Amino acid sequence: MKNTIEGFGELVFGLPVMEARLSAPTFASIKNTIDAGSKLDPGIADEVAEAMKEWAMEKGATHYTHWFQPLTGSTAEKHDSFIFPDFKGGVVTGFSGDELIQGEPDASSFPSGGLRATFEARGYTGWDPSSPAFIKYDSVGAATLCVPTVFCGYNGEALDKKTPLLRSMNVLSEQTVRLGKLFGIDCGDTMAKATLGAEQEYFLIDLDLVAERPDILRTGRTLFGKGATKHQQLDDHYFGAIKPRVAAFMAELDAVLWQYGVPAKTRHNEVCPAQFEIAPVFETLNIAVDHNMITMEVLPVTAAKHGFACLLHEKPFAAVNGSGKHNNWAISGPDGKNWLKPGDNPHENAKFMTIVVALMKAVDTHADLMRASVASAGNDHRLGANEAPPAVVSIFLGDQLTDIVEQIEAGGASASKDGGAIHLGVDLLPELPRGNTDRNRTSPFAFVGNRFEFRALGSNQSPAGANIVLNTIVAEAFDYICTEVEAAVESGKEFNDALQSVLAAVIKEHKRILFNGDGYTDEWLEEAAKRGLPNLVTTEDALPALQTQKAKDLFSKYGVLSNAELESRFNIYEETYETLIGIEAATAADIAKTMLIPAAVMAINEYASVPAVAGITAEMSSLLEAAVAGVAKLEAAEKPADQIVAMNELRASIDALEAIVPSELWPLPSYDELLEV
Ligand code: ADP
Ligand code: MG
Repeated sequence: MKNTIEGFGELVFGLPVMEARLSAPTFASIKNTIDAGSKLDPGIADEVAEAMKEWAMEKGATHYTHWFQPLTGSTAEKHDSFIFPDFKGGVVTGFSGDELIQGEPDASSFPSGGLRATFEARGYTGWDPSSPAFIKYDSVGAATLCVPTVFCGYNGEALDKKTPLLRSMNVLSEQTVRLGKLFGIDCGDTMAKATLGAEQEYFLIDLDLVAERPDILRTGRTLFGKGATKHQQLDDHYFGAIKPRVAAFMAELDAVLWQYGVPAKTRHNEVCPAQFEIAPVFETLNIAVDHNMITMEVLPVTAAKHGFACLLHEKPFAAVNGSGKHNNWAISGPDGKNWLKPGDNPHENAKFMTIVVALMKAVDTHADLMRASVASAGNDHRLGANEAPPAVVSIFLGDQLTDIVEQIEAGGASASKDGGAIHLGVDLLPELPRGNTDRNRTSPFAFVGNRFEFRALGSNQSPAGANIVLNTIVAEAFDYICTEVEAAVESGKEFNDALQSVLAAVIKEHKRILFNGDGYTDEWLEEAAKRGLPNLVTTEDALPALQTQKAKDLFSKYGVLSNAELESRFNIYEETYETLIGIEAATAADIAKTMLIPAAVMAINEYASVPAVAGITAEMSSLLEAAVAGVAKLEAAEKPADQIVAMNELRASIDALEAIVPSELWPLPSYDELLEV
């Protein structure tokens, strides 16, 4: 019987390939670097590089690239061939350990947010052995060996998303291992690892139609378009039967992703017509981030082969659902077990509840940073628009777990809600509901049985940013709890009693972050304001969270981002936001002037001599006037906030024109056509 997938991981220079192709001591050394995070022995680099080159050339590769994740949010590569002249008129091939370990792309055009002046613009890429190298085929089939790297300035300052991600994982590991020791778990040098399963939503639109939509081509979303007549009202698309052309695409997508070792698992139709989702099986966080970046690269390339454009934008179409990325996060302890599973004895329960309470502290203290970590021009269309979680960050624990938290708060005291009080480390937790029964889809940060799901990420965002924040704030909360408990135990208190009183105090201080109700209601926004929870509606509201003393202290204390590195992120994200809105504004004005206003003028001319349609002509004329004025206002607007208002106003008159101008004169494919795949 066949119980494997042919070709899985075929394009990856992973452990099995390394074991087969490296000498035993070299393999043992690199495996130790990967597993225990120990320092890379530069002495093995030449052998590894040579083996990589041999393997890559067998797969048809002629070039290699250091593959990195600059602060643009996408991935970057610069190719070098393996060739060297032999000085006899021919060439030999080679790939040295030095070339594997370090690269120096001419990187002056990547955003540095002020970290580098142009005269010192050099950036270095450095091999990250914890992510396996892989082969990438371009659209014409040429193969390139991709070596995952970090990207730093000459002084070691991080210019990418991966460096702080790895740092944050190390910090979380340190504090998790420390917490484990309090519970008698000591696994020597073995690290704890955060795990991630990123659910990815996307749209598929007919490529030929997209070719006629300069707004989608230039900005990834529609800037105009009256709503489709039939969209998601009937809820008939969600989990519906997958149409053959889409099914063929999905089959190829899975096959390609499997070759990259991406464990693609689930595929289905989403809420909106033309909207879909792919979810992998969870993996160690940094690998899962790499794999999500690869997935985002593979999606559009594979879609094009099937005549589709794959839109990863958070809000390609107004008035129907946009796309997000659910970030399923847990901690695998040094013992290899998922520490977000409640466990089945009082001791494990106590560890589990400690982690839940630490998350309450982390998220409540840094709700503003969580919001900032998912801020983008595209995501602003979703958060708070009743299709995605609100911009207010809160935690859903479900009724039962909330009740347990309340009982711990009351523990030792005589009374609680139903008279119960749980003594940590002594009492067994009641059975928690498993599976899908107790899920609240409106919560931004929900406990779902064995993990937390952060649901506010945009479909187009690298998951790195949100997880850098999550890892670091949880590490800080673990640090706090460990410090308090260790001190109490030191001074003679019994461990369970010490833990009990520390957690009770943390719960008291941070329980305002818990909310199990409907996050889409106005009542919740009022209640959240009363509780003092931040409601940072737009990117411009959210990004200043990166500039607070609290944020600087957090990231510098744990060595995840220096003050300068943090400041550079703020600068880049703000500039990116302004630039994107500027491009949208210019594109909207351009399309209105050169395509849509002329269509309205033609329609008015055609109708002018027909008295029966005089009413329509008059309506078109007044909308046309509004559109012309709208363009003028948009072109005069300079600040993003003003540009957004002007775009919306212009869109209102243009969309009203689309509803009455003869469709054969209207140059843009309609929402009805676009959403029908
Ligand atoms: P749903 O759409 O119901 O939220 P999915 O099955 O689409 O669920 O996605 C759930 C994701 O959570 C998957 O990627 C899954 O692998 C991931 N997941 C499960 N357990 C863990 C864990 N311990 N750590 C991280 N992610 C996990
Ligand atoms: Mg989910």
